[in-house]
Amino acid sequence: MSMPSEPILRFAPSPNGRLHLGHAYSALFTAHCAEQLGGQFLLRIEDTDIARCKPEFTEAIFEDLRWLGLDWPDQAWRQSERFGVYEGFAGRLREMGLLYPCFCSRTEIAAAAHGADPDGAPLYPGTCRHLAPSEIERRLASGHDVQWRLRGDLAIARAGLLTFAVAQPTPLDRPQIRYARPERWGDVVIRRKGTPTSYHLSVVVDDNAQRITHVTRGRDMEPSTDIHVLLQFLLGLSSPVYTFHKLILDADGGKLAKSRGAETLADLRAAGWTADDVHAHLGFA
Ligand code: GLU
Repeated sequence: MSMPSEPILRFAPSPNGRLHLGHAYSALFTAHCAEQLGGQFLLRIEDTDIARCKPEFTEAIFEDLRWLGLDWPDQAWRQSERFGVYEGFAGRLREMGLLYPCFCSRTEIAAAAHGADPDGAPLYPGTCRHLAPSEIERRLASGHDVQWRLRGDLAIARAGLLTFAVAQPTPLDRPQIRYARPERWGDVVIRRKGTPTSYHLSVVVDDNAQRITHVTRGRDMEPSTDIHVLLQFLLGLSSPVYTFHKLILDADGGKLAKSRGAETLADLRAAGWTADDVHAHLGFA
């Protein structure tokens, strides 16, 4: 009989700006759940977007989390050091005949799209699915910007009905089974332009590699789980139990975001807040 594995949870921020109260909530929620489960809390730096992620923001994440009183074993994994691993998994999907190159620009996609994905982005209409092999070769050889997309229809046909386990409101609750609906995402990008991976690919590869048993993340990330369980199935990766926590909203009821001018933890610290104030404000006193 195999031993049940130790609970392992992770906080996985992207270093594309300073952390705000929404990140602090997610980090404290995750650390608190790890403690209650008697498991580990890991930190993973999701810095695959080379254009937007900066080393100084990674250093600031360490500083802010330590200020909040959080600790993690060993060195935090940095996804930018693991591109070769993701490339290998993307290669497997390609060998399975499930990836195709897409040369469309954002503007072209926006103009051709008929609907939106669950994040509200234009749904890719599959334009490049129909390119002739000779045309693909010509464009690849001429150094066109390329990204690689998953053939959603073929992938879903292989997988059949997919489910995942959701424990709400915390990972200590009994998991319930949910059906995944990957078809609402269309053909998602697996390898972005200029990177051998995408958020969707690297997150499932690393949750598996780090033996994450429970994923705790904001409610806004719930729909993307459709794609994660599809990739887990196709690549033979383990599927953790998911918990989607509440979002911290700003005064207008919008999600806290750097782009909406949310105050960062550094701003609050400079304004005299202590770490205890943040804990109390977010309900973790
Ligand atoms: N890196 C993602 C973000 O900062 C979160 C990934 C996850 O929790 O799965 O939005």
